[in-house]
Amino acid sequence: MEPLRALLQSPRRVVVIPHQKPDADALGSSLGLANWLRKGGHTVNVVSPTDYPRFLNWLPGHDALVTVYQPRHNHAEVAGWFTKADLIFCLDFNDLKRCEPLNGLVERSKAKRVLIDHHEAKQDFAHFEYWRVSAAATAELIFEFIGLMGGASQVDGPIAECLYAGIMTDTGSFKYPATSSRVHRIVAHLLDIGIDHTTIHRRIYDTNSEDRLKLLGFALNNRLKVLPEYRTAYFALSKTDLFQFNYQVGDTEGLVNYALSVEGVVLAALFKEEEDHVKISFRSVGDFSVNELSRAEFNGGGHKNAAGGKLPTSLTTAVDKFLSLLPHYQPQIEQAALMPPAQ
Ligand code: 5GP
Ligand code: MN
Repeated sequence: MEPLRALLQSPRRVVVIPHQKPDADALGSSLGLANWLRKGGHTVNVVSPTDYPRFLNWLPGHDALVTVYQPRHNHAEVAGWFTKADLIFCLDFNDLKRCEPLNGLVERSKAKRVLIDHHEAKQDFAHFEYWRVSAAATAELIFEFIGLMGGASQVDGPIAECLYAGIMTDTGSFKYPATSSRVHRIVAHLLDIGIDHTTIHRRIYDTNSEDRLKLLGFALNNRLKVLPEYRTAYFALSKTDLFQFNYQVGDTEGLVNYALSVEGVVLAALFKEEEDHVKISFRSVGDFSVNELSRAEFNGGGHKNAAGGKLPTSLTTAVDKFLSLLPHYQPQIEQAALMPPAQ
């Protein structure tokens, strides 16, 4: 980190990117870091590979700082930022596939790449890495990183709000096993800065559209499948299902957790039909690794208990593939059911 600290002593051109369909951790980390870098006199552009949920569009710095990359509309401008950048920060992902369609711009840029992340199975593409799988959130690592760069005293309200949003969501509101005492100490520090955590919570979790709630009701009533013999529950949502409820990005965030909450369930999945592929979210409890499952079978990855992937198939083919794998994974699922959740 020392050479990086030295680099940041003079004003640099910086690009910050979260992963595709950024969640509160990816976007909160990106904006928290960008807000801090700007205080240091750096020129910063945050570029999101794709659109993101509306319930995140209040994050401090969001208006001025996030550009959603749209190849047909702003390619030249965004490409220029990458070409001229001294540093590119890749936040909350560790495989360049996760920032498509920006990966080519990252690869071609002469900028030094900085990776800050907490996912498993890191790829080697960065010049500087701050990577810890045991971290509960990338936002936790951003807080530490700012400290390592000598900027702890510059963390102000807006930066603290961004980081709190990332930590709060990635810890499942402080309940997942990775929520260490260290996380609580960081959060205590953020609260001391004076953030309004109740409002942040409400903005992220309690600002549903009527359509979103109806989609939830529909999914629970008509699409939840429970397979007690495999301790598995899943949803499959077609394009038509989503269209019926005027689907907006983020509307299915958290849905998979309802499947996981069914008593006795160890493995949960959500299959969502998108334009030319099926996006899958996996969740598990205990020692069953959905990271390994999604890496081995669904072109994805993530964490042990929360991962995702994609298949370039129809919705039925994707679900059939999942169902056909269950007998193979059954012993591991049963094993996980016997053990207390990992610490
Ligand atoms: P979610 O199901 O909430 O979209 O994602 C759960 C976790 O898995 C997140 O940490 C996310 O970054 C990761 N993840 C989701 N989709 C993919 C994917 O296609 N590839 C990889 N490598 N990770 C993913
Ligand atoms: Mn994260």
